[in-house]
Amino acid sequence: MQDVVVIGAGLIGCGIAYELAKRGASVTVYDRAEPARAASWAGAGMLAPYSEEVVDPALLALCAASLRAYPAFVEELRERTGVDAQLRHEGTLHVAFDDAAARGLAAQCEAFGRNGAVATVLDRDATLAREPMLGGNVRGAVYVANEAHVDNRRLGRALVAACTDAGVRFERTGGVVLEADARRVRGIRTEHGFLAAATVVNAAGAWAGGLPGVPAAARIAVRPVAGEMLALAVPKGFTRGLVWSNHVYLVPRDDGRLLIGATSVEREFDVRVTAQGVASLLAVALRIAPVLGTFALVETWAGLRPASHDGRPYLGRTHIDGYLVAAGHYRNGILLTPVTAQAVAALIAGERPPVDLAAFNPQRAPEAA
Ligand SMILES: Cc1cc2nc3c(=O)[nH]c(=O)nc-3n(C[C@H](O)[C@H](O)[C@H](O)COP(=O)(O)OP(=O)(O)OC[C@H]3O[C@@H](n4cnc5c(N)ncnc54)[C@H](O)[C@@H]3O)c2cc1C
Repeated sequence: MQDVVVIGAGLIGCGIAYELAKRGASVTVYDRAEPARAASWAGAGMLAPYSEEVVDPALLALCAASLRAYPAFVEELRERTGVDAQLRHEGTLHVAFDDAAARGLAAQCEAFGRNGAVATVLDRDATLAREPMLGGNVRGAVYVANEAHVDNRRLGRALVAACTDAGVRFERTGGVVLEADARRVRGIRTEHGFLAAATVVNAAGAWAGGLPGVPAAARIAVRPVAGEMLALAVPKGFTRGLVWSNHVYLVPRDDGRLLIGATSVEREFDVRVTAQGVASLLAVALRIAPVLGTFALVETWAGLRPASHDGRPYLGRTHIDGYLVAAGHYRNGILLTPVTAQAVAALIAGERPPVDLAAFNPQRAPEAA
């Protein structure tokens, strides 16, 4: 199979590179920074399309396909590299703390169910039985059983190791420019010179829309949406699964951290963690469980979600022969990694992708002139 260049070593770029290398392609991944350290590292690792209120049917179907693909994906990486990404199928608890939220639980449950979630309403006692750490003023919850979470930092390490094992080369270099004429791609230019390639995949996350050298006909609209998060050190077994309330979520990690996320701020490529961001997350978290206020704050960080113009990722070929895009996964890029990797690699290899990518055609972008 052909030589492929992937620009961007996030979960999306590494996932595609790995699937291509397994198919016998010679793959080089270019990144200006350390692999799997941008949004793919900063994310919460929730595999939770229903809780994220994805309602677009095409996107929901893609998310559901990726959720189904996750166990085999993580197991394959674990067998190959020894790194376990700690996939946990513990479901999500949406907790109500006031009368209005409690009255809305049945409707919320029904809405989740319409989208494919396996959801049930829990009364106060059943909610506390599931999560004893919740504050005493909890009124009830909706439990979504068919959602999961994964340690995305471990997943990044596993994927990079699997790529290396499968023969993928990683090049760390800034200033990557696409080289293409009006019809087809010729390769890339970096600070080390020109490199010819018949196939180039733009997997540059929040920066994908600004990749230099892309002809107008193949441009996509991706903008950064910052998310700030923090982590507390909690006793082992403190929470059982994902907990949501008022757009704030708690995500347990096997290493004893409890992640609390996330803000959503449109302020260009700014990854500062602000006092306001931390304060707003902690205000909700301490309402969910006042005891959280007694634990150590061990980490704060921020990352950039890559948002497309219509909420769907751009996946597949462009008007420029040999130039493909896999970007714009917004809030669900960790969830969408297996299906994106398998589908885009299949497309490049001339196989039938496991899912229909028509709705994600990059040529729909308003920027494509
Ligand atoms: C706070 C937060 C919480 C999130 N929570 C979740 C969640 O719970 N579940 C979920 O599914 N998703 C979540 N997401 C979204 C998810 O993290 C992203 O959708 C996903 O990681 C995007 O992956 P990516 O590989 O496209 O981008 P990234 O991981 O950002 O990787 C892009 C890479 O491209 C490189 N790059 C960019 N431009 C160039 C260039 N010109 N030359 C060379 N290299 C370049 C960058 O250095 C970077 O390494 C969250 C995101 C954030 C910020």
